[in-house]
Amino acid sequence: MSNYWSPLAGSLEPYVPGEQPKDKSYIKLNTNENPYPPSPKAIEAITSAANSDLRLYPDPTCDILVKEAAHYYGLTEKQVFVGNGSDEVLAFAFAAFFDPAKPVLFPDITYSFYKVYAKMFGLQPKLIPVDEDFAIPLEQFSGNEEHTGIILPNPNAPTAKLLPLSDLASILERNPDRVVIIDEAYIDFGGKSAVELIPRHPNLLVIQTLSKSRSLAGLRVGMAFGSEELIEGLDRIKNSFNSYTLDRLALYGAVASLQDEAYFRETTDKVIQTRERVAGEVAGLGFKLTDSKANFLFISHPAIAAKELFLRLREKGILVRYFASPRIDQYLRVSIGTDEEMDAFLTALKESVGELS
Ligand code: PMP
Repeated sequence: MSNYWSPLAGSLEPYVPGEQPKDKSYIKLNTNENPYPPSPKAIEAITSAANSDLRLYPDPTCDILVKEAAHYYGLTEKQVFVGNGSDEVLAFAFAAFFDPAKPVLFPDITYSFYKVYAKMFGLQPKLIPVDEDFAIPLEQFSGNEEHTGIILPNPNAPTAKLLPLSDLASILERNPDRVVIIDEAYIDFGGKSAVELIPRHPNLLVIQTLSKSRSLAGLRVGMAFGSEELIEGLDRIKNSFNSYTLDRLALYGAVASLQDEAYFRETTDKVIQTRERVAGEVAGLGFKLTDSKANFLFISHPAIAAKELFLRLREKGILVRYFASPRIDQYLRVSIGTDEEMDAFLTALKESVGELS
């Protein structure tokens, strides 16, 4: 704690992202990155932007990307917002829609950034406990509770479980006067986007990222979709913090990526196929798994401590994610890599189970 810090800076417990180690080369299955490169068309667009316009400021309203994203989802341009990764879009949404006077609801097991943002914006998080199987209890979002809004990732992280759109529609219907944010970071790996619910639900904000299914984590592009009223709320916050949101490279790269549907389909299908194969093999080794609809598996061995397995895998050059958090400290989150990477993971996992049993 420093005397120079504000009470806020002193009180924050910053989010700790998955490690990006530099000591040796690992097979990195710990931060849900995409194992395939971004669309070659996106690389081409970024290279061409780098060779031409970097002298100039980018477009503060990000028109080319807003237009492309609106077209992609059949929305109007006034229903689209873009930012530097969905983490930034989430921060703007917390600031724009949640009132510090009342609690904001989210599951107790979920993306741990939500707690950090709640603190940053002086909000009161109310954690809704998921059940034994990590299912989100819908009755806790009945609309009768005193709260300022709801945020749910779909699929949830790190459990990888997906809620059907009918459940989301029912939460939206019961909370018409409060904003419900659906964080769809992993939606392209087997889920159906809630964007189609927007016309009937002006209280719905859907947030997506190009970091996962589009393999552009390094470019930092996130998007939000919702009614004009909600997008205007986000713009009010953005224009006070960071009016030039996206840089030129990100703008052009993101547009080209959204235009390359064939490459997007091919690479996401591949990740899904590999996930299904590896899930079967991991189950065959005696592990318990959730039904993943994301680009990662959430796995637990009935007899071996997850931390031991994590350390053993690390020694063998395989990095997965271990959470030293209540309720999930017996689980590991394993991102889906290429088939070769996953074969190496399976071999190391099999050996580790043998050594630790
Ligand atoms: N939401 C969830 C649920 C995530 O897991 C992540 C990635 N860690 C994000 C949002 C943020 O992704 P990005 O900032 O790269 O768009």
